[in-house]
Amino acid sequence: MKNNILFILILMTILLGCNSNEPTVSIETKLAIIPQPKLVVPLSKELNLKNIKLIEIPQVWSDLKEQFIDFHQNNFYEIELVEKARTNVIRVLKVENLEAEAYKLTVNSKEVIIEASDYGGAFNALQTWKQLVLHSKNDIVMQVKIEDQPRFGYRGLMLDCSRHFWTVKELKETITQMAFFKLNKLHLHLTDNNAWRIEIKAYPKLTTVGTYYKDYPELSGKFYTQEDLKEVIAYASTRNIEVIPEIDIPGHAIGILAAYPKLACTTAGKSFEVYPEEMPFKDRKSQANMLCVGNPDVYTFSEKVIQEIAAIFPSKKIHLGGDEVPTSIWKTCKRCQKLHKKEQLDNWGELQDVFTKRMSAIVQKQGKTMLGWDEINDRHAASSHDIVMVWRNYGFKQAVEALERNVPVIMAPQHGCYYDWGYAGNSTRKVYEWDPISEEMETLNKNNLVLGGQACLWTERVKTQNRVEEMLYPRITALAEVLWSPKENRNWDSYLARLEQNYDVMKAMGMSYFFDDAINEAEFKPVKEKPALVRHAQLTTNLNNHGNYHLEYIFDGRSNTFYWGNRSIGVGDWYQITLGEPVQVTKVSVITGDSKDYIQHANLLISEDGETFQRVAVFNDEGEANASLGEKTIRAIRIEVTKQHTNWPVIKEVKIE
Ligand SMILES: [Zn+2]
Repeated sequence: MKNNILFILILMTILLGCNSNEPTVSIETKLAIIPQPKLVVPLSKELNLKNIKLIEIPQVWSDLKEQFIDFHQNNFYEIELVEKARTNVIRVLKVENLEAEAYKLTVNSKEVIIEASDYGGAFNALQTWKQLVLHSKNDIVMQVKIEDQPRFGYRGLMLDCSRHFWTVKELKETITQMAFFKLNKLHLHLTDNNAWRIEIKAYPKLTTVGTYYKDYPELSGKFYTQEDLKEVIAYASTRNIEVIPEIDIPGHAIGILAAYPKLACTTAGKSFEVYPEEMPFKDRKSQANMLCVGNPDVYTFSEKVIQEIAAIFPSKKIHLGGDEVPTSIWKTCKRCQKLHKKEQLDNWGELQDVFTKRMSAIVQKQGKTMLGWDEINDRHAASSHDIVMVWRNYGFKQAVEALERNVPVIMAPQHGCYYDWGYAGNSTRKVYEWDPISEEMETLNKNNLVLGGQACLWTERVKTQNRVEEMLYPRITALAEVLWSPKENRNWDSYLARLEQNYDVMKAMGMSYFFDDAINEAEFKPVKEKPALVRHAQLTTNLNNHGNYHLEYIFDGRSNTFYWGNRSIGVGDWYQITLGEPVQVTKVSVITGDSKDYIQHANLLISEDGETFQRVAVFNDEGEANASLGEKTIRAIRIEVTKQHTNWPVIKEVKIE
């Protein structure tokens, strides 16, 4: 008996102790909304979702009706559309005084009231409501008052449709997913050296010749008809997403030159061929690649193309690229030389500026605004009538250059916004801690000209819709919060707790998100000191490091750290891990870079004695090598490069199991 009492006392102490130590779950974590709303006031009571049976939506927002009703039905809550209801209703009200895309959402005991002044606001409220319902347990939603509005009006995603092609169905999936996190701009990179993907009636060869690969018939002929694009635009518009087209000129133009070679410079080749990413570098025809800015036909061509595009896309923005424009071909071209002389230019780069200004005028004639990559402003050719999309490096320098001259910017820098980079280069945490406005930009007092930010997904190595989703999710949800929520509300731990509750939701939506085992890690910054290894070993290579990216990072047990060599690799290059003692293994695998810096042509070898090696795997197109060995005792692992690469190699990890 005595013992029993003691036992009960101990048990009570443990239980009480546990209770007092239990972390208080914040209201933010409970509701798990991403992006975090501006203001959330809990009302400390609950609403049973089964009590909501009716919905009222103003006629002007009829596009929302189906989305509301479908969502409720898919989640087993029957709901009926009515004109006026007294109670048990979701009441969507159009009010006068809220800002663009802003909304108020109040959950009471028997009704949910949504207020907005525009369609975007009502749509955003629906996304918040969906998240509340999807995170509810046993049909119970907390009563709450939310007041919300975006920090930036431009919250975008750029998808490269040239290097790989995405069907209308796949684009719609992308739209549905990004809209759920309140992203509102989809920028389609429609043309490049790999293909011209948009039907232009005045120039039909763009999409026949410009998508035709002699040796790859199965990849040929993929493009969007104007009707396809109208379908995508309409679908996006009901999801509060503006679709912005990009035609990349005057560089990245083989798609054009393959179809209309006369638009090239006089000294460039006579024929051009687009190539799929699947074609090895050595098989690609080396092609001097620029539109001839000295040829008047180029301006006629561009104007007609822009006219057709302006008629397809209701967006007020047309992106005309302007990135990575070498001037070497122009220098040797008679027509370009003539224009250079006529315009009395000093620098050959100024020829691009002549082109930029003419294009901007053509776009303005269509009542629209030209966007361009940040090179268009290298010599201040962009004006306050254009928009500079900042991409190179961290981007703040180019942003300051533009803002100082009152040129609006959209921030999409490689660091923070390039999601063709792997999760090692742009980790979810790095994205979350990134901000579109640097301290220096802040001092200019021109935040109103920073329109927002954008994720960029280049698709050299992204071939499937699943891969698109893995590269975007979860880290684009971090970007969504950066661009939506007030800066002072941002908190990594809170975001992470909310994200964890959203994985199931993403899964239920059919999204192939990436499971990031190093999500809590900030950006990988290599240091002078070499990292500790997973086991005793000696690492050697015939290459030199790039900076502090030591070879030891490939054997430190962390896939978010990596080795980076300081040049491109080819036959004869090698890397080796010699183990301190023989190790019994069943599997050896190697993961290399995600973006362009991966190893594609190499053998993976092992050695039992550290001297004689045997090949156990070949690197695949994904930049990986995997060898299942049964059971084997090994002393060394070696990678031998078998063909020339154009990239600088990254190796993330060599794993032995
Ligand atoms: Zn020329």
